[in-house]
Amino acid sequence: MQELPLIFDAHLDLSMNAMEWNRDIRLPLVEIRRRELGMKDRPDRTRGTVCLPEMRRARIGLCVATQIARYSARFSSLPGWRSPEQAWAQTQGQLAWYRAMEDCGELVQLRTSAEVKAHAALWLDAAPEQMAKLPIGYLLSLEGADSILSWRHLERSRADGLIAMGPVHYGPGIYGHGTDDEGPLTSKGRELLKEMERLGIILDVTHLCDESFWDALAHYNGPLWASHHNCRALANWNRQFDDDQIRAIIDRGAVIGMAFDAIMMVHGWTHHRSTARDFNLKMEKICEHIDHICQIAGNARHVGIGTDLDGGYGTEQTPMDLDSIADLHKLTAPLTERGYSNADIAGIFHGNFLRFLGEHLK
Ligand SMILES: [Zn+2]
Repeated sequence: MQELPLIFDAHLDLSMNAMEWNRDIRLPLVEIRRRELGMKDRPDRTRGTVCLPEMRRARIGLCVATQIARYSARFSSLPGWRSPEQAWAQTQGQLAWYRAMEDCGELVQLRTSAEVKAHAALWLDAAPEQMAKLPIGYLLSLEGADSILSWRHLERSRADGLIAMGPVHYGPGIYGHGTDDEGPLTSKGRELLKEMERLGIILDVTHLCDESFWDALAHYNGPLWASHHNCRALANWNRQFDDDQIRAIIDRGAVIGMAFDAIMMVHGWTHHRSTARDFNLKMEKICEHIDHICQIAGNARHVGIGTDLDGGYGTEQTPMDLDSIADLHKLTAPLTERGYSNADIAGIFHGNFLRFLGEHLK
């Protein structure tokens, strides 16, 4: 049997699933789904695709895992806490869950490039029976910065191991404007970028609306990536990058994590209405996104995996042939057919993000 290549997933909301979806993701997928039978509070109940045993089975030994909490003053279609202080407290609860998972040996936090390198080596060499016992390495990131109350809070987060941050999420935020919104960074947003640069925090450009995106690139000089982001040329929604944006961040050395949310993979998906069958959507569609970026770059060094597979949806919004995060390995065959070498594929699965972290994480 051919050994599975290592996968680095640059975007998972593990703690959000534990603390807001109330999922014990140490359990097998079938058991998590069974416990949600009859629950109707969220569209993805009984349809989740991510848990720690499935990650181990698929050799997903390293990931970027988020803290996430929006601030939203008014009741609106967007979820959010009524004060930034509540958002901060929510992220601290999420951090406490990561710590609890470290205490029981399920996860291990990676803070430096040396730790990332050593942990990757452990997973690269592990035999399948060893993988079941290895802790999964996680790097902490913050998706949307509304919860950062002051620069003192940012320093505290950095001391807790925060290595990357996206200033905004959906809609308007304290620091700028996110997906489905318009507008530049706020003056506080520009200050935030300076503080991030000072503290050595990677800028995650995912979720910045176009104007805030260009503003951020103009005002931030540190390393940047896009943790979970596809191509607008293939999925026409402002959530994705147009070709100019792709070109600009490749010029800055970024790696872009491919997301497996169906809404981000095809033109014309209607939220809560469309099904993968309507589009005959299979995982290999992501190869078109990968190829689009590689053609712009002229090489395969700027694409990685950032699945977002536990980002508030399940199999109702994934490709037809993706039932578990372990199905990511189905990408190898279509990439090979397109002429990607084993080295290219290893780069996409883990090497490109690991190289980036080796260069930029202190
Ligand atoms: Zn997201």
